[in-house]
Amino acid sequence: MIKLILTINDVAKIISNIAEVIEENKQYLTDLDAAIGDADHGINLDRGFKAVKEKIPQFLDKDIGTLLKGVGMTLVSTVGGASGPLYGTFFMRMGSIASGKKAIDDKDIVAMFEAGLSGIKERGKAQAGDKTMIDAMEPALNELKKSLKDGLKLNEALSIAVNASYSGVEMTKKIAARRGRASYLGDRSIGHQDPGATSSYFMLKTAAEYMDKLQ
Ligand code: ADP
Ligand code: MG
Repeated sequence: MIKLILTINDVAKIISNIAEVIEENKQYLTDLDAAIGDADHGINLDRGFKAVKEKIPQFLDKDIGTLLKGVGMTLVSTVGGASGPLYGTFFMRMGSIASGKKAIDDKDIVAMFEAGLSGIKERGKAQAGDKTMIDAMEPALNELKKSLKDGLKLNEALSIAVNASYSGVEMTKKIAARRGRASYLGDRSIGHQDPGATSSYFMLKTAAEYMDKLQ
């Protein structure tokens, strides 16, 4: 089995692909937030990822950790709202795991995802089932780990993880928000899809699609 290795150029490409997907879905994410929040999620993220895209070239001669920490810090300072610090923390924590590395493999990718998600949970004090981005991330991480343990290749495991993430997004329609702005609506948030879970799904899907083409 050929092990998947990502270089800094691969990671940079994944991030710029994510920026494009966020731009394409800016209105959709904002519309989802209009129903249960303040109609800014797509606008916030698009502003942040546009700033990230501009900064990427200055990190390409550095290591993956420095790149990801730079991405996280840029998101914290440009996205705003609840999702800015949370996604910022996610990328910064991934950067800590990739600190000093010029290349990362399957194991690093899982460790990075795990550290990033822990960062979100610590910072936002939310859990699975609270109708947040965690509902798209945690099932994906669990399936990813399980599939790799079962001996699947990374691209296969990622594809299962993306499906689990999609199911998590669908599940957010059925539950009431317990964290973030949507929680002010209580049970009136039921029936609406969580915008942050949706953006997390897009990010994961974009990363998985890139890695699938490499394997
Ligand atoms: P704001 O709610 O401040 O306007 P955004 O609209 O950019 O920020 O992001 C809203 C999304 O942030 C929600 O859909 C939810 O997924 C996520 N979110 C909010 N609070 C938390 C939290 N405490 N933990 C995890 N995710 C959260
Ligand atoms: Mg909002």
